[in-house]
Amino acid sequence: MPAQPTLSEVIAALDTLWPRDRAEQWDAVGTVCGEVSDPQARVSRVLFAVDPVQQVADEAVAKGAELLVTHHPLYLRGTTTVAADTFKGRVVHTLIKNGVALHVAHTNADTADPGVSDALAGALGLRVLRPLVPDPTDPAGRRGLGRICELERPLALGDFVEQAAASLPVTAQGIRAAGDPAATISTVAVCGGSGDSLFDAVRAAGVDAYLTADLRHHPASEAREHSPLALLDAAHFATEWPWCEQAAAQLDAVAEREGWDLRTEVSRTVTDPWTAHAPSLPQETPFSGRSMAQQTALTDNDLTPGAPN
Ligand SMILES: [Zn+2]
Repeated sequence: MPAQPTLSEVIAALDTLWPRDRAEQWDAVGTVCGEVSDPQARVSRVLFAVDPVQQVADEAVAKGAELLVTHHPLYLRGTTTVAADTFKGRVVHTLIKNGVALHVAHTNADTADPGVSDALAGALGLRVLRPLVPDPTDPAGRRGLGRICELERPLALGDFVEQAAASLPVTAQGIRAAGDPAATISTVAVCGGSGDSLFDAVRAAGVDAYLTADLRHHPASEAREHSPLALLDAAHFATEWPWCEQAAAQLDAVAEREGWDLRTEVSRTVTDPWTAHAPSLPQETPFSGRSMAQQTALTDNDLTPGAPN
């Protein structure tokens, strides 16, 4: 008979998948709340999500999860209060009052094998070749930040942008892009989350395009001046959400191996902070230059077109 694992057994499995000591120095990963040392604390259901916000905490409670696993930390720096009249304190109270533990896998999941950018590449239908910034402590050369990928078959940039927008979770932002829409794209570097600190590695990789999130004006402008590298800027949430499905599948495999009675679920709540997007109106005399045609004006609240939330 499959038995429900204890919370500490599940946390140990998560720590094996994403060892805490592989997180960046500044990061705050691991268990945020939960009775890890209580042998009576059992887990029957685990919810995976990108952000530990109130809506997601409420969802974990409504779904009867005893464990919530998020990519982003609840507390990245120290705090002096978890009072329920602060928004983070309210999340903590909601979780503890309802017997839900919270565990975070952040930069230790980014660089893992498979990691956040593998999941992103998979969602985009790309074949992963190697890490963009390899982890020097991995002799196999598979761990690291970002991934260098190739397309199944080369596409025009305009088509690749549309394909990417259709493949990632629906957000108000959609995807902004820079480059000649007719340029041929065969190789792509991807990095889930904010990736504009990796432009040196992207240039060194010699890829045709770079897809990441949170691209700022100056790094993007300088990258475009430097080379014909095409840029795709997706919503931060959209680039990291595919990891939740990958992570849930990884824990499912552990549960199967261990004979655990454990169900995983992936939150479909869109927690991207941006909720609306108005494309500029078409102009009689458009600015000259490098702007691409308006690619998208999606403002749907659902993660997947046509799917229930
Ligand atoms: Zn992130």
